[in-house]
Amino acid sequence: MLDLDKRSIMYLPGVGPKRAEILKKEAGISSFEDLLFYFPYKYIDRSRFYKVNEVEGNMPFIQLRGKIVLFDIVGEGSAKRLIGKFTDGTGVIDLVWFKGISYTKERYKLDTEYIVFGKPTAFGSTYNIVHPDIDSLDQADQVAKGLTPYYNTTDRMKKAFLPSRTIQNLQYTLLSSLQWQLPETLSADVLGRIGMLSMAEAIRNVHFPESVHKLRQAQLRLKFDELFFIQLKILRTASLRKRKLKGIPFPTVGEYFHTFYKEHLPFALTNAQKRVVREIRADMGSGRQMNRLLQGDVGSGKTLVGLLSMLLALDNHCQACLMAPTEILAAQHYATICHFLQGMEVKVALLTGSTRKKEREQLLPAIAEGEMQIVIGTHALIEESVHFQSLGLAIIDEQHRFGVEQRAKLWTKNAEPPHVLVMTATPIPRTLAMTLYGDLDVSVIDELPPGRKPIRTLHRYDNKKAELYAFLRSEIQKGRQVYVVYPLIEGNEKLDYKDLEAGFETFKEVFAEYTVCMVHGRMKAADKEREMQKFVSGEAQILLATTVIEVGVNVPNASVMVIESAERFGLSQLHQLRGRVGRGAEQSYCILVSSYKLSNDTRKRLEIMVNSNDGFQIAEEDLRLRGHGDLEGTRQSGEGLDLKIANLATDGQILQYAREQAMEVLDKDPDLLSEEHRILSERLKTLFDKQKDWSRIS
Ligand code: ADP
Ligand code: MG
Repeated sequence: MLDLDKRSIMYLPGVGPKRAEILKKEAGISSFEDLLFYFPYKYIDRSRFYKVNEVEGNMPFIQLRGKIVLFDIVGEGSAKRLIGKFTDGTGVIDLVWFKGISYTKERYKLDTEYIVFGKPTAFGSTYNIVHPDIDSLDQADQVAKGLTPYYNTTDRMKKAFLPSRTIQNLQYTLLSSLQWQLPETLSADVLGRIGMLSMAEAIRNVHFPESVHKLRQAQLRLKFDELFFIQLKILRTASLRKRKLKGIPFPTVGEYFHTFYKEHLPFALTNAQKRVVREIRADMGSGRQMNRLLQGDVGSGKTLVGLLSMLLALDNHCQACLMAPTEILAAQHYATICHFLQGMEVKVALLTGSTRKKEREQLLPAIAEGEMQIVIGTHALIEESVHFQSLGLAIIDEQHRFGVEQRAKLWTKNAEPPHVLVMTATPIPRTLAMTLYGDLDVSVIDELPPGRKPIRTLHRYDNKKAELYAFLRSEIQKGRQVYVVYPLIEGNEKLDYKDLEAGFETFKEVFAEYTVCMVHGRMKAADKEREMQKFVSGEAQILLATTVIEVGVNVPNASVMVIESAERFGLSQLHQLRGRVGRGAEQSYCILVSSYKLSNDTRKRLEIMVNSNDGFQIAEEDLRLRGHGDLEGTRQSGEGLDLKIANLATDGQILQYAREQAMEVLDKDPDLLSEEHRILSERLKTLFDKQKDWSRIS
């Protein structure tokens, strides 16, 4: 074994302790292997030489071949620079250096042929190239084959003489010292099935491509590798857990479920809801512990599916709990569920941070003794003091607000872990769901209840306020209610509240004949509750809020959502907010108000919102615009992935393929014990042992 992951980069010729430290800090490179897996972010074609007299404005990076005939130092202070007059006989171009002046002047000889590479810019009537790359002719054999790799470097790296070019040289040194041979990471059976390049050939070509074709093949192999091992890890963790944990079997569909379904359900379930309820029933009946993610766009009716699942738990002599991220939501769930269950003998409790002490003292024993059958609440549910007699099902609503640890805590509420159903309205793109939640089973409600009119989304500039107010007034006159939402940006709260409060004053003035109320995160829970209640009851026509109303609130009569400073919201967040309207039978509107000055990306974001009501499509676009690392929900729960080469936005097919291959391996050899697969289990160890505890992702 070469143990490339254990050999410190410090010992690579040309590195040493100082540069090693910088490589580690700035690029995360501490071993030989890290260096080899530090991939170029782009390649530039250096296969053709240009003539100096061909140079013109707006050229990309080009290369020239010629001699420096004169060095000159001009300017003072920060404008001091070294100019090298460079010619190939067809004309003269200036090479310019602002840094490393004496070093450069020493390094390059006059009247010696070099290859110069860079982007020419017009400067008066001449052209110059600032900080060009320069190769001697004998180096040309190495680098000028065609595609030159470019590596990400930081300012600190450049200052320590570790520019992209040096990284490339280090790769060269390392690979030649290994005689261009590297150990394989995949087992022979997998490699045989996929028919891709060997690891050695892929690494070689990703740093020193023989051709465009070979480069593509190398990238494919490396992307596959990266995704394959993530899938292998996730699937193996999942199967271990499934085998280890027996779930509480729910064999019976009994009184509670049937009575509710037949006599209390106020409307027919959508086909999607029916399908999901069947999936959940089968899962909880199987004797395995359920770990299921329920995805459904806002308004798709997840609460009801949750309720039906809880009734199944009751039918099997268990308790169930539903945990929501905010007090408002918990209270709303409590009200909704009590309403649904009217006339049935089911004991439902609400437990939140603001539950009064006296009430708590009665509730806790009632929960511990099993008298309370359904408990709805917030984080308060996972406090030490809360015990259940027999918790059979835990439902978590709007999962992205909860961290992994909080979810894990729920498990400890019972001797045997309860079944877990995570409900989320943040549609996670398929590729991402497979990667992040690969060990959860996923159910999707992809259908809205009938009779909903699609929400109309409009984009308006904030200098047209009068028209906006007129429109709102006409809607309110028809009996509708209006939300107005203001952004809340971390670290800038003062300003945000100023916006909200100024808005409140304006709205009270403009709509003097109506009632305007306001909620925000800084209010006491009781005040928030009271203001919110004004809106829910219909007493107030206009609700101004920060994003606290983002999740779950349900006021069917509210048909207009105004989003102020819409340019400051992410796509998924805008979609969540929009989902607060469109719940009744009336035509609903979402009005995105922004300033006139918008970046291209922002303009695109708002356009997507205007053109699409489909949460999944929006999530995919979001992924594409922002890159997966920054996707809402994944960052919040701390599960961002650090991928080196694969891109979840564009490599969905490779991911799918990698997953299938991982499954095939595990089907045959669940614990990777065979001699053939030892290479895979060793690779898993190298890749993941130093990282986080993957078994906790659930
Ligand atoms: P979400 O998935 O966003 O949590 P909710 O569960 O709050 O959605 O449901 C939104 C609204 O749709 C609620 O008023 C609910 O009563 C209603 N609803 C749910 N299922 C149906 C259905 N099958 N037919 C008609 N209305 C439904
Ligand atoms: Mg909901």
